[in-house]
Amino acid sequence: MIVARTRSELAGAQQALRRDGARFGLVPTMGYLHEGHLSLVDLVAARTDVVAVSVFVNPLQFGPSEDLATYPRDEARDLAMLEARGAHLVFLPPLEEMYPEGPPAVRVDPGPLGHRLCGRYRPGHFSGVLTVVAKLLGLFRPDVAVFGRKDFQQEALIRRMVSDLDMGTEIVAAPIVREDDGLAMSSRNSYLDVEERVQAAVIHAGLQAALARFREGVRESEMLVGAFAEVVAAAPLLDVQYAEVVDRWSLESVEVADERAVMAVAVFCGKTRLIDNVELG
Ligand code: AMP
Repeated sequence: MIVARTRSELAGAQQALRRDGARFGLVPTMGYLHEGHLSLVDLVAARTDVVAVSVFVNPLQFGPSEDLATYPRDEARDLAMLEARGAHLVFLPPLEEMYPEGPPAVRVDPGPLGHRLCGRYRPGHFSGVLTVVAKLLGLFRPDVAVFGRKDFQQEALIRRMVSDLDMGTEIVAAPIVREDDGLAMSSRNSYLDVEERVQAAVIHAGLQAALARFREGVRESEMLVGAFAEVVAAAPLLDVQYAEVVDRWSLESVEVADERAVMAVAVFCGKTRLIDNVELG
């Protein structure tokens, strides 16, 4: 496994790895890896010849009162996990290597989709995400890039960006990997204390309750959100920021759920903000 920290090291590694016709896959991450990230590595490995992973905590996507300074990091552990999983190339750029001129003056505008769901509560977040992903796609020029469905809005926006701006990389979505009790794996789960960790699993239970209602034939979004809220209300450490039924393509709220409906939620568990979603249709 080649570890590149600078643009020139990355270019050298790519030259060495890009044998004739080799297909290149990229898994962008912010590190502090878990099985969810590693499932993306497996997915890309099944579709390409060369698996590249980037590990970069991107300041552009954090708001001023968010957790950039405390975001968990463990480079040695990440590298060991990636090596064991068979990654060929890891890019670990320091800040000045990603943004040599300082914060970029030109950024990607996510448009109206970026203002829905999480975008309403995290202004600038998706512009930061799309800008760094555009840079990574430019640096790696991968044939395939994989993103997790856990970050449902992020995946939808990246898919749109790559299509609207003809970026040429195939975007693949990976299913959500969960802990045994259903909690979606996340680097931020490391913030949870013991009691918070127990109650955090109720988020998934709430989504499953909504899914069960949908499968029974309930279609009114209000009732489906109500089913979620009722379950979550039993966990006092949980505080719902939003719970919405949206169309998976437009991300617009729908009053009546159909086969394209997704329930997306953001929930504070103590001070930790967790997101999750379920495809209803
Ligand atoms: P992050 O390091 O949180 O920026 O995540 C990097 C990539 O891993 C993103 O595409 C995420 O959607 C994906 N990811 C994170 N957690 C999970 C999970 N539990 N299941 C599947 N994909 C995930």
